[in-house]
Amino acid sequence: MPVIAYILLVAAVLLLAFGYYASFFIDSKVYVKAFCRGSGRARKIALTFDDGPEEPTTARVLDVLARHQVKAAFFLIGAKAERCPGLVRRMVEEGHIIGSHSFNHTSLFPFGSRKKIADELEKTRDTLKEITGKTVCLFRPPFGVTNPAIAAAIHTGGYQTVGWSVRVFDTRGYVSRKRIRKRLLKKLHPGAVVLLHDRCGKADELVESFIVAAQEKGYEMVGLDELLNMQAYEE
Ligand SMILES: [Zn+2]
Repeated sequence: MPVIAYILLVAAVLLLAFGYYASFFIDSKVYVKAFCRGSGRARKIALTFDDGPEEPTTARVLDVLARHQVKAAFFLIGAKAERCPGLVRRMVEEGHIIGSHSFNHTSLFPFGSRKKIADELEKTRDTLKEITGKTVCLFRPPFGVTNPAIAAAIHTGGYQTVGWSVRVFDTRGYVSRKRIRKRLLKKLHPGAVVLLHDRCGKADELVESFIVAAQEKGYEMVGLDELLNMQAYEE
């Protein structure tokens, strides 16, 4: 192979690798400044849940959080919020934060035009406002994927983007909850933003055992707004 072809090939591979990293790693912050952890060394962490609300799993998670007096953040799918408005109201009434996680969360979301993505975010915001009276300004992109179109929609809507710093694959039902809890604890660090899914079966069991174990290790669970020092809603 001529040297020039070799150089071009290497450049193309590097470019592709960078594109993949920029789009699929929310903490790369290439397209969007995402907040993924709190600063400071105090053992404070925030629990966040994606992809809800869903019956009956979300209600069970809310029961656990109430029992342990822990305030969490829920990044909601607009279409599901429309179907379960009572759960959304309950979250707000019980002191949790709600944010946007798109309206439909389809795998095509990242491929939409700027306008389509902005419209979807607006629809989610309107839905959540209708249910709770609050205008959400925190957004977590589906799959953690960002690109220029998503970045533009975030900018247009004036959203703050929230990522995470601790994630395990709790959506995989075949992995035991005990193993997942262990992995969560192993990855935990001061300022952690922990990502979980309230739609998963046994999410309540996982959350309860995790809260107890994290507190035993000296961690305090605080609201996401406190941890990241940001406002969850527009005034
Ligand atoms: Zn999601």
